[in-house]
Amino acid sequence: MIDIPSHPSPPSTTLLGVRVDLLSQAETLSRIDQIVALHRNTTDIPCRQIVTVNTEFIITAQRNPLFRQCINQATLVVPDGMGVVWGTRYKGEPAPERVTGTDTLAALAPLCAEKGYRLYLLGAAPGVAEATARILQQKHPGLIIAGTYAGSPAPAEEEDILARIREAKADILCVAYGAPAQELWISRNLSRLPVAVAMGVGGAYDFLSGRTPRAPKLMQRLGLEWLYRLYRQPWRIWRMLAIPRFMVLIFLKEQKKKKKQ
Ligand code: UDP
Repeated sequence: MIDIPSHPSPPSTTLLGVRVDLLSQAETLSRIDQIVALHRNTTDIPCRQIVTVNTEFIITAQRNPLFRQCINQATLVVPDGMGVVWGTRYKGEPAPERVTGTDTLAALAPLCAEKGYRLYLLGAAPGVAEATARILQQKHPGLIIAGTYAGSPAPAEEEDILARIREAKADILCVAYGAPAQELWISRNLSRLPVAVAMGVGGAYDFLSGRTPRAPKLMQRLGLEWLYRLYRQPWRIWRMLAIPRFMVLIFLKEQKKKKKQ
């Protein structure tokens, strides 16, 4: 983890060996702003990775050490999902709130419009990043979308994608290839990525373009977005089994710790 001047390493905790930074949405944005401003003034600093970690990430990281290492070495690891927020609270080191990839991208758009930061949207099905770009630009006049491209996380496509991003002179790169592919893609290309910040955003373009409806605000506030997602996309049940597995593992680990004390 590398410190950001005027923003030392954020307070963090560890859930089942995976780091989680205890940051709010506003604090996350402020840090991204700092990183981009710094990068614009100092050309030779490397790209920083931001990971939005949910319970599926943490369960996957239990059997994928490369993914775990990639998360733990990221500049920011924000708590995406109520499961992770619950885990931090149960442990007694509470994260302030959920910081999702979709909300972060939605909040980044006005920041980019205000500051002139150039945003690149990589990933998702063909046409979805373009639709997202149009909607974000309508909402936030002045927003510069440096580029959009679906591509794929296949290593054979990397050189082409890196060339496109280089040509676009982007400041912030969002990658929607799903986890863990998007995080591993960013991590293995980090030293060659000509941007200040790169963040995996999962299904964010599907939501922001309206292709996939998002849970009503009330459900989001009650921490029930997962339930709405399950209702819309029942095939997610297998992936969502990560939530109870995660809760049981955290419970057992905390009980064991209490017995030792
Ligand atoms: N995706 C892609 N290429 C791939 C795999 C996934 O572009 O090889 C996209 C997919 O179209 C979707 C996003 O990656 O837009 C992943 O969405 P998902 O809902 O799985 O992510 P989550 O939000 O659950 O992390």
